[in-house]
Amino acid sequence: MKIPGIHHITAIASDPQRNLDFYTQQLGLRLVKLTVNFDDPGTYHFYFGDDHGTPGSILTFFPWPGAPRGRSGTGQATVISFTVPSLNAWAGKFPGERITRRFDSDVLAFTDPDGMALELVATGGGGSEGSAISRFHSVTLSEGGYEATARLLTETFGYELQASEDSRFRYVSSEGDFVDLLCQPDARRGGMGAGTIHHVAFRAESDEIQKQWQAELARLNYNVTPILDRQYFHSIYFREPGGVLFEIATDPPGFTVDETAASLGTGLKIPPALEPMRAEIEAKLPKLKLPVYVR
Ligand code: ZN
Repeated sequence: MKIPGIHHITAIASDPQRNLDFYTQQLGLRLVKLTVNFDDPGTYHFYFGDDHGTPGSILTFFPWPGAPRGRSGTGQATVISFTVPSLNAWAGKFPGERITRRFDSDVLAFTDPDGMALELVATGGGGSEGSAISRFHSVTLSEGGYEATARLLTETFGYELQASEDSRFRYVSSEGDFVDLLCQPDARRGGMGAGTIHHVAFRAESDEIQKQWQAELARLNYNVTPILDRQYFHSIYFREPGGVLFEIATDPPGFTVDETAASLGTGLKIPPALEPMRAEIEAKLPKLKLPVYVR
């Protein structure tokens, strides 16, 4: 059993409209689902991704108006990196951006409006059209000590160490996306808040495979949750040895379970159990100006 790669990454934002505008207009991602936080339905949950919400392209946010900034540090995923063909169309667009070179690729580093670290990694095309973001390139985890996390990735998830550079260790999944472990024994611990990453979800191809992961993680003494229904996938959660919250999420049923592919993200979706309270929920949610998709 191997983890094919990243399913989605979830982060915390403050102002919902500012977050929505940045990821759809500046980065050109699609809003593939507008829904509520199932545990706190008076707040939104945004899902951005490619046109279909393909696993491996999905970045989600809990936008909490007025949320204080978090602190980036160890025990957290600290950087989200996307694949682009080249940086030509992107360089010069983001305040405070810088271009670096890492493992033979050009990398454009910048932050989102809540200060969360983002990167675009130029991978030289490979069939992708134009300049658009296609999917995640990698996620970077900051760790006080990286060895136990590295063992989870290699011995359990089936990742392979591909390269290392200074204190960065790069692991590749069977389908070719990456987890970078940054070993930072002297750095301070991160603190949750706006502009920080809440968790990283990895893919399970089916419910059956997810059950096997749940059993395997329990056997390895991870404190793994029951399977939770997230409407668009099913989830289990556990904390990796360095403290980052990991999730394993199923590919099915996907985002077209409650709206058509063409209309993804164009209206507020509420899980069936909360649907009777739609009017109250809508009244509590901040008003939003949604992107208009011309198909
Ligand atoms: Zn998740």
